[in-house]
Amino acid sequence: AIGILVANVPEGLLPTVTLSLAMATQRMAKRNALVRHLPAVETLGSTTVICSDKTGTLTQNRMTVQQVFYSGTVRSAEAHGFDDNAIPLLRTAEYCHNLKRGNRNGQATWLGDPMEIALLTFAKGIRDFGEGTMVSEIPFDSDRRRMSVVIEHEGQRWLYCKGAPEAVLPLCVGTELDGRHDVLDDATRQRISAAQEGMADRGLRVLALAHRQLRGDAPPSESELVFSGLVGFRDPPRPEVPEAMARCHSAGIKVIMVTGDHPHTALAIARDIGLVNTENPTIIPGEALRRMTPAQVQIALDSPEILFTRVTAEQKMLVVQALKNKGEIVAVTGDGVNDAPALKAAHIGIAMGISGTDVAKEAADMVLLDDNFASIVNAIEEGRAVFENIRKFLTYILTSNIPELIPYLAFVLFRIPLPLTIIQILAVDLGTDMLPALALGAERPDPDLMKMPPRPANERLLSWPLIARAYLWLGLLQAAVAMSAFFFVLHLGHWNYGDVLDKAAPLYLQATTACLAAIVMAQMINVFVCRHPRQPALSRFTPRNNLLLLGLGVELTLILLIVYTPVGNRLFGTLAFPSTVWPVILLLALGFGAFEELRKLILRRR
Ligand code: ADP
Ligand code: MG
Repeated sequence: AIGILVANVPEGLLPTVTLSLAMATQRMAKRNALVRHLPAVETLGSTTVICSDKTGTLTQNRMTVQQVFYSGTVRSAEAHGFDDNAIPLLRTAEYCHNLKRGNRNGQATWLGDPMEIALLTFAKGIRDFGEGTMVSEIPFDSDRRRMSVVIEHEGQRWLYCKGAPEAVLPLCVGTELDGRHDVLDDATRQRISAAQEGMADRGLRVLALAHRQLRGDAPPSESELVFSGLVGFRDPPRPEVPEAMARCHSAGIKVIMVTGDHPHTALAIARDIGLVNTENPTIIPGEALRRMTPAQVQIALDSPEILFTRVTAEQKMLVVQALKNKGEIVAVTGDGVNDAPALKAAHIGIAMGISGTDVAKEAADMVLLDDNFASIVNAIEEGRAVFENIRKFLTYILTSNIPELIPYLAFVLFRIPLPLTIIQILAVDLGTDMLPALALGAERPDPDLMKMPPRPANERLLSWPLIARAYLWLGLLQAAVAMSAFFFVLHLGHWNYGDVLDKAAPLYLQATTACLAAIVMAQMINVFVCRHPRQPALSRFTPRNNLLLLGLGVELTLILLIVYTPVGNRLFGTLAFPSTVWPVILLLALGFGAFEELRKLILRRR
């Protein structure tokens, strides 16, 4: 009874699963994805939808000012001849930021948002207004989409504001031209909007700048502002992203852009990176999303190409929840404090390592060290590989359960000497099997892995086909190998059926040793066979796996120690059998492998 229990329990499985997940996190870390919770590795592999930020994740977050709009005309940022009408714009650009003075390699630099650095350096390059004293700040927040600072200058207080045009223009009441104040009428507003759309269509990120003087002790308020101009930034897409996007397509993973930016900017970038390839993608601005019912959101999510623009963090969370209700496995990216709920709600929350806040990282399951979308796709590939790898070593480990079990059944049913002792079972499960199983857990992702659709979320690791292959096919074959070796040694010793052997008889010890050696040898073949459920074990497409070679070396050493050293003999109740038995064991083991390869061949033909 104890023997049957010990044979059936895969003692080495638990440490192997944990170690293989841990090794996967290390491989992911090398590819810039830091996993914070071990089980997230496996969930990653079944991801069906990625909701991604735009700025910094799909793009480089390396901003340069491209176009500027003031006093009614759009100009290229390179052109010279900014006249005095540009002064309010340049002044706002220089003062309205929350950058810190820093030091990089001994050189004084600005630290902070790359967009603000770009704006500041651009303005200072044209005219430098010197330092002002910042009195207070109304900080940026991705729901308000604007920020303001109050600056004291020659005894006067000024408020400088910048942000998304939709967030700033409603607060503006006038413009300033030739030092003259004008009321901001509808015609001017339309000209500004047209300029904004024009810039956004080219993929530029547009900011509106505005200012006002604060009189007396009046508290700073973002109202009755004077519009000073628009600035368009170019933020090139990351070069790796189009390829990553194509991999998502072939892997059946849908990518949805969720951004705080303007619809036109988002669309231009989406086309650039291959997220949108058709004429009519679905673009849902935050305004529209607010008015949609949950059912409408679900229907909209069926569309193959979707962009959510000008959304708030709360709406991002709604999108995630709607996707979850549709049964999708959702990965979502975020960087800000407000993103934390969406990161928590998603199956996989992904925080930005460089630009992300600590709150976002704390809420996430994974941190992207390079903020790069392509790293998410790599991590998904590793996640898929982990699932496949666990199946590989599950098959491997479960196979040897049968040749451990059959001896006990045969012992009871046919009254033969017990072919394998309990301690010998443990020698396999906790000894020789361990390193090769781990090596299977470290297999590199199959090249075809990202050409298949995501596995269904309800698919189990331990599936019926896997159990059938391991127990009913590989296991039984291996049991035949083991029993043959056992009887072969008994036969050499002139044993006849029915003879009773003493537990300490040399012939009996040699026969059990041969049974053990045969299992181990067959497992050495099995590790190659288990590298792929369909492809041949030794095809030239199978990548190298150094851990596997090491595993085989250790396995061989262990069995030789068990068979040939006095310590091994005493610990495991073994005794060296005649060396003529080895070739027989080897042939039997090779035959075992040949049968499985034949089965795979037939399977592939079909
Ligand atoms: P995303 O990261 O998806 O591009 P954000 O939430 O960061 O969106 O920004 C949304 C909008 O807020 C931007 O399109 C821009 O108009 C405005 N914005 C972003 N950063 C700043 C900033 N530092 N100061 C003022 N406005 C900003
Ligand atoms: Mg952002």
